[in-house]
Amino acid sequence: MHPILEPGAMLGVLGGGQLGAMFTGAARRMGYRVAIWDPDPDAPAHRVADQSFSTPFADHDTRDRFVDTVQAITLEWENIPAELCQWLEQYRTLRPSSAVLKILQDRLTQKEFLSSCSLPVPDFAEVESEHQLHQVISRLGLPLICKTARSGYDGKGQWLIRQSSDIPQFERILTTSSSRVRWIAEQFVTFVRELSVLVVRSASGETCVYPVVENRHEQGILRDSVVPASISSSDAKAARELSVRAVAELHGIGIFCIELFQAKDGRLLINEIAPRPHNSGHYTLDACTVSQFEQQVRVICGLPLGEVRLLSPAVMVNLLGDEVTAVLSGERGQEIFSTSGASVHLYGKRVIRPGRKMGHVTFTAAESETAVASAQQFLSRVRKPPSVIPSIG
Ligand code: AMP
Repeated sequence: MHPILEPGAMLGVLGGGQLGAMFTGAARRMGYRVAIWDPDPDAPAHRVADQSFSTPFADHDTRDRFVDTVQAITLEWENIPAELCQWLEQYRTLRPSSAVLKILQDRLTQKEFLSSCSLPVPDFAEVESEHQLHQVISRLGLPLICKTARSGYDGKGQWLIRQSSDIPQFERILTTSSSRVRWIAEQFVTFVRELSVLVVRSASGETCVYPVVENRHEQGILRDSVVPASISSSDAKAARELSVRAVAELHGIGIFCIELFQAKDGRLLINEIAPRPHNSGHYTLDACTVSQFEQQVRVICGLPLGEVRLLSPAVMVNLLGDEVTAVLSGERGQEIFSTSGASVHLYGKRVIRPGRKMGHVTFTAAESETAVASAQQFLSRVRKPPSVIPSIG
């Protein structure tokens, strides 16, 4: 038996973005209090937390106060320093563990781990020098996608080498980037679709799996997610089984999102695993019995996991950059708020930047086609032509 943390306890969250804010909403609904630690004083979760810390993660004084304040800890961002997590877990339960975080926060270490467990990933190699880049190109061929091993998200820190003429530009990036930056080159997968699966795993090994979601990205940023994915039941079963196996191999405790490519030849390949709730799982707030955030609360408090049932088909659309202003302005806003089946979530971020996730809208309907049609209509109202994000080449 694992001890249960009772309502009233203070749960600590490392990171204070929208995922932390949504976690806080779920925790408070269940009677818990939440302390957020995020160095950015403007991070959205600070506003909803019971206590907040906004000093750098290297601040030892805050580290000591944080550990005294909270009874259990989770994270909403994989780039939290693993050393901090390792220190914290000497005193408090931390889900996911620092060992799992260390594997997942580095793309190279993650892919090496998955390959060593015979889990399918795109062919990859480390790239440290121009010479090695040429060796990798001759082995994996072009196109090739090069990513920083750490800290990249939403397509940042990624370069696509489509053809030989793109090589010199990446060589320059490679030679001018800091010697501490490690690079991974991956075979560019021609996929039919991108999928994701949320897996929740408790300390006793109890596991639950959400339905398979189909995701569409633009310039590396999630545009929308459709659930259930339009795939055969045998493909859905294979995606779910693969995802459960990956989390079991990690001995992961917490909530994990497994992002997958369904390649043209039908193979499923793991793109990456996030050790936290995920943007593609936001639909669970409006369309499932228990949301991804409530599951995160349950895991860290040692409560039984919740039933995972899709109550209705759903499409989640991200509000990127100044698309949020369309939702808030005049008649167009009125139409969006009153669209049947639309749940509007706004993150309250003060600064609008191109491509920044400012909110999302989930469309639910009795039939998938209706939810998809509402989402498409919505997108055509709010979207601007995609701005070019230079790093994706
Ligand atoms: P990531 O940050 O690695 O999840 O990449 C963001 C997006 O870039 C993915 O969701 C894909 O749309 C695309 N992408 C990343 N890696 C690959 C790859 N090896 N092959 C094809 N597309 C990729």
